[in-house]
Amino acid sequence: MASEDTSPAPGLYLVATPIGNLSDWTPRAQCIVQQADYIACEDTRHSSRLFQNLELKAHPQAYHEHNEQQQAPKLADAVASGKVVALLTDAGTPGISDPGFRVVRECRARGLPVFSVPGPVAFAVAWSISGLPTDSLLFLGFLPPKTAARQRIFAQHKESTATIAFYESTHRIAKCINDIITVLGPERCICLARELTKLHETVLTGPAGEVQAQFEKISSKGEFVVLIAKEGFSL
Ligand code: SAM
Repeated sequence: MASEDTSPAPGLYLVATPIGNLSDWTPRAQCIVQQADYIACEDTRHSSRLFQNLELKAHPQAYHEHNEQQQAPKLADAVASGKVVALLTDAGTPGISDPGFRVVRECRARGLPVFSVPGPVAFAVAWSISGLPTDSLLFLGFLPPKTAARQRIFAQHKESTATIAFYESTHRIAKCINDIITVLGPERCICLARELTKLHETVLTGPAGEVQAQFEKISSKGEFVVLIAKEGFSL
C-alpha cells in the first residue's frame, strides 16, 4: 500500500484524470503529482490545466505513443533508484487505450512497485449508467477503422453472453451503428454514451434501430463509448 499522509512510497503511480468534468480530479491525484520526482504526461500542455494551482516539485515531461518505447526503461530506472514517478494521460486511466502499458510491464518485470491513483475509465462510466447487464463485460478498445473488419468483429462476438464495450471516434460513429444493425439486427439492445460527465452528455439506450433514429437527431460530435447487450436482452 502507498500512503501519502507523509511522502509517497517510491514507485510508478498511474494517476487517473477527469474524462470531462474537472471536478473529478481527486485530492489524492493532486497530492501525488505535487510530490512526484518525475511527472510523465501524454500531452504536457493538456495536463497543465490540472496543475494550475499546484506547486510542483518536478517539471512535466512528455510520455506518449511515439516515445513510449524509449521513455519506459528510463522511468523504470527512476523508480528503481527510489523515485516517485507519476504517469498521466489526457483523460481517464493511463494504460487503458492510452500510453502506459510499456512502463507498467517494465516495472513489473523488474519487480518494481506500481500503484494506482484511481479515477474514471470511460467504458466503465458508460457501462455503469447504461441499463445494460453489468454481470460481465468484454472490452474491445478501439475497433478497426474499416467497415468490413468492424463487421467481422461483430459477427465473431454475436453470441457473446457478456456486454460488449468499445471506443469509437466521432468520424465513424454513424457507420459503426450501421454495422451493428447489419450484423446483429435492429432489435439488438445497445447504448451510445456521448460526452460523459460533460455539458452535452447524452446516453441513448434501446434497440439499435431506435437508437440510430434518435442519434440522427443529435450532434454526432464528441467522444463516444458504445455498448452492446447480449442477444435477447431488452430494457
Ligand atoms: N484512458 C481513457 C479511459 O480511461 O477511458 C481512454 C482514452 S482513449 C484514447 C479515448 C476514448 O475514450 C475516446 O475516443 C472515447 O471513445 C472514450 N472517451 C473518453 N472520454 C469520454 C467521454 N467523456 N465520453 C465518452 N467517451 C469518452
